[in-house]
Amino acid sequence: MPVDGSPLEVAPRPPVDAGRAAGIARDLYGVEGPVRELGSQQDRNFLVETPLGGRVVLKVANRGWGRETLEAQNAALRHLASHDLGFAAPVPLPGLDGALLHEVDDEGGPLPVRLLKYVEGVPLSSARHLAPQVVAGLGRLAGLASAALAGFEHPGLDRAVQWDLRRADEVVGLLLPSIGDPDRRALVADVAAGAWQRLADIAPRLRVQAIHGDVTDDNVVGEPDDAGRLRPAGVIDFGDLCRSWLVADLAVAVTGVLRHAPDDPFAVLPAVRAFHDVVPLTEDDVEALWPLVLMRGAVLVASSEHQVVLDPDNPGLVGPLEDEWRILHAARSVHPHHVESVLRAELGLGPAPRHAAALRTVRDAGRLIDVEPSPVDLSVGSAHLHSGRFLQPGVEEILLAEEAGRARASCTRWGEARATRTRLHSARPPETVALGVELRVPPRTPLSAPWPGTVSAPEAGRLELVSSDGARLLLRGVHAGVAHGEQVARGAVLGTAQNGRLAVQVCVDPEVDPPALAGPVEAAGWLALCPDPSPLLGTDVAAPDEDADALLARRRHALAAVQESYYDRPMRIERGWRHHLLDTDARSYVDMVNNVTSVGHGHPHVADAVERQLRTLNTNSRFHYAAIAEFSERLAALAPDGLDQVFLVNSGSEAVDLALRMAQTVTGRQDVLAVREAYHGWTYLSDAVTTSLYDNPAALDSRPDWVHLASAPNPYRGRFRGPGSGAEYAAELRALVDDLVAAGRPPAAFVCEPLFGNAGGVLLPEGYLPAAYDAVRAAGGLVVADEVQVGYGRTGHHWWAFEMHGVTPDFITIAKAMGNGHPLGAVITTRAIAEAFGASGSFFSSAGGSPVSCVTGMTVLDVIEDEGLQANAATVGDHLRRRCEELAERHPVIGTVHGLGLYLGVELVRDRDTLEPATAECYAICERLRELGVVMQPTGERANVLKLKPPMCLDVASADFVVEMLEAVLRDGW
Ligand code: PMP
Repeated sequence: MPVDGSPLEVAPRPPVDAGRAAGIARDLYGVEGPVRELGSQQDRNFLVETPLGGRVVLKVANRGWGRETLEAQNAALRHLASHDLGFAAPVPLPGLDGALLHEVDDEGGPLPVRLLKYVEGVPLSSARHLAPQVVAGLGRLAGLASAALAGFEHPGLDRAVQWDLRRADEVVGLLLPSIGDPDRRALVADVAAGAWQRLADIAPRLRVQAIHGDVTDDNVVGEPDDAGRLRPAGVIDFGDLCRSWLVADLAVAVTGVLRHAPDDPFAVLPAVRAFHDVVPLTEDDVEALWPLVLMRGAVLVASSEHQVVLDPDNPGLVGPLEDEWRILHAARSVHPHHVESVLRAELGLGPAPRHAAALRTVRDAGRLIDVEPSPVDLSVGSAHLHSGRFLQPGVEEILLAEEAGRARASCTRWGEARATRTRLHSARPPETVALGVELRVPPRTPLSAPWPGTVSAPEAGRLELVSSDGARLLLRGVHAGVAHGEQVARGAVLGTAQNGRLAVQVCVDPEVDPPALAGPVEAAGWLALCPDPSPLLGTDVAAPDEDADALLARRRHALAAVQESYYDRPMRIERGWRHHLLDTDARSYVDMVNNVTSVGHGHPHVADAVERQLRTLNTNSRFHYAAIAEFSERLAALAPDGLDQVFLVNSGSEAVDLALRMAQTVTGRQDVLAVREAYHGWTYLSDAVTTSLYDNPAALDSRPDWVHLASAPNPYRGRFRGPGSGAEYAAELRALVDDLVAAGRPPAAFVCEPLFGNAGGVLLPEGYLPAAYDAVRAAGGLVVADEVQVGYGRTGHHWWAFEMHGVTPDFITIAKAMGNGHPLGAVITTRAIAEAFGASGSFFSSAGGSPVSCVTGMTVLDVIEDEGLQANAATVGDHLRRRCEELAERHPVIGTVHGLGLYLGVELVRDRDTLEPATAECYAICERLRELGVVMQPTGERANVLKLKPPMCLDVASADFVVEMLEAVLRDGW
């Protein structure tokens, strides 16, 4: 077979160096400039930087290329250039003689030469990790290229090209002898034979047209977006242009994605979806795709092995060869029918027509057992799995046994993502979705054939019954009463449920070997192959099918949009336990954002206390009950001497609002000093001192005239920097106070977080707070320490963050941590202030200080004490901080690590000198961390700080997992 452009037929790359290339460019095209060789497997490509800034590529082709082939490529490129494609492609440039194709002499004969306009951009292959949107971009470009070439015709298209997947079988056969290792050789032969066999039936129906043939990560280039992720924008290298199967273009693109995700073949899904959005795939395409990916993988390894034999001195060949083996292994790790089913689910195609008869058999099946099992809820929302019970070993067994005790027989649910199968600290979503059911039935319950079929009993305890149309019943836990190979009628006795523990799974595909549970991404595909066994069990055993997208749409319709959610496509979270969150796929995340849940999610003591008190009494603080007295005493005892008066409200905003109102009332003044970049709440007064542009871009222009702004006391990137900046910030504040006094408007109050949470957990510079407090007090003002975020033991080394500065405020405002998520807030102040405020009237908050609130608050304090959570915040926080600092040594994008205890901020910058904030990167890193099982969010004025403020029960194992995932993202990209 003359295989055009193939190393089988031709010598290695033409012997042309950069000097010769410069001469050719000058003589044939009149182009001059510095020349640099670009990589190529078979040809020689040279980048020429022309003086006017235009970049061109001189391509000296392998002698094996026929003239017609190169003319076809030129014609295709001109065809593309004349259409608005939505992507960039090279444009052939004429020589001094006006021709687009030339020849230069060489010892072995003439070499074809062309000049193309260079397509700017970085190849996707330069990135280790391809984000889903980049993968989608690659698939979209493959689709656009296919669409653009649909009408292109040229005689040169009909060539025998090594990379044409229509010839893959032949090519593998020819190249196979080059694979020295016999095991590897046999494997490639086997993969290719199997995949080719699958293609045999479909191939005649596949659409054929001109295709690029090599839209891979190497040949798709993009410019980095704000976050540094490549946005696919151009396709280069039309050297494999030929007439072939349309879907081969997608198969090649998908194979390129596998290089970046060798452990996760379903990472290709966004590419398929995006291709389908441009060029809708037919059912045949979907069936052919994975066999084609396998063929492509086989050709890649065979060809690379062959290249190494041919051109042993080309060092560029060795690395890619191992990559290609990894691609082939990734493609082999999933069954083509399973992939097809996943793709069908992804594209909304429904079950494959060839499974229709078997599906009907399952739907019309007879009963397997004559007892009706009662299903047990093992989902994330299950009432059986509180207090971390979902992690208890053997809990499924226990629950099934309990339910069987009540109802004679019990079972798990089909299609359920089981919380009991989650894994903590897993970078990948675990296999949680049940593809069958497990039952507890009375021992020796007879089992009847639900359909007529053939029995196979591969090993003791297992039995399979296959109908003539391919419906398979897979049983485990059987004492068989029929022999291997036996034909049985519907209703015939198959045996008994040996000891009452039975697993039932149905499958409609003859080839696949379905697991008991699948990961969420591939679950829909598996469930289509392993349908609901309810008809066999006489009761509905399917888990409720809830449409997460529809629920999100309802939220977005009914809840005012300004109340944003984390993430564009948020996961649905329905359980929390300690510092872990579970989504409805039972994928776990380490929760690094919920400082409100101070003692951890789902704390049983808190839940019990709330429930008990709700059942006993919940009323308002004008009644006399024990809890309000006790809680107030306990809060007062936590505050420094002199601060012994407690006001109970429901939130941080209310607490700050009340503190400011008291300060204004008591001093008879209105003016308040606040720092820039701060958040204090949403009520009128707390919002007035909320200066952060992150929350309100117009904050600085819309402050009431009684609010006066001091610089954000941020020694890392603020107006004054470094360890000595405390005095400078304090001097600035003092001058502000002096000005106000001079203007006859002395301040009522100064409000500030003693650890600057909203700025990213920034530690205030030494000396600032004492001097600031002195200056305000000297002018007769009062000082508010907003401890809503950072107080309550979170900093680990202190109960209150102001303690680290050796100061005592006039007001402490608290909320968040107080109630572990139950709405609680408080102001603690002096008796003198409280009494002076009292003179102006009474104060009442309907739910503030209610029995339930007080009991909740006291239980939280008990738990913090009993579980040593403040000490834990110190130990784990210090550990986490140290590990983040180590990361900073290796990754320049980390500008600094802020904070103390379990209120930390990892600030991301593009440049450690200019401190240009890496905002888009911060968002992208949070997205990627979410995929890896970590919930983290950007914070700070520039949204460039990763905030680390988890529940205070975070342990070292989780902290280490978070750091490892962050390291992986920083290393591999996002
Ligand atoms: N003060 C600070 C420092 C805060 O961070 C917040 C909330 N983020 C508040 C006050 C307001 O608290 P809440 O949301 O409970 O009203």
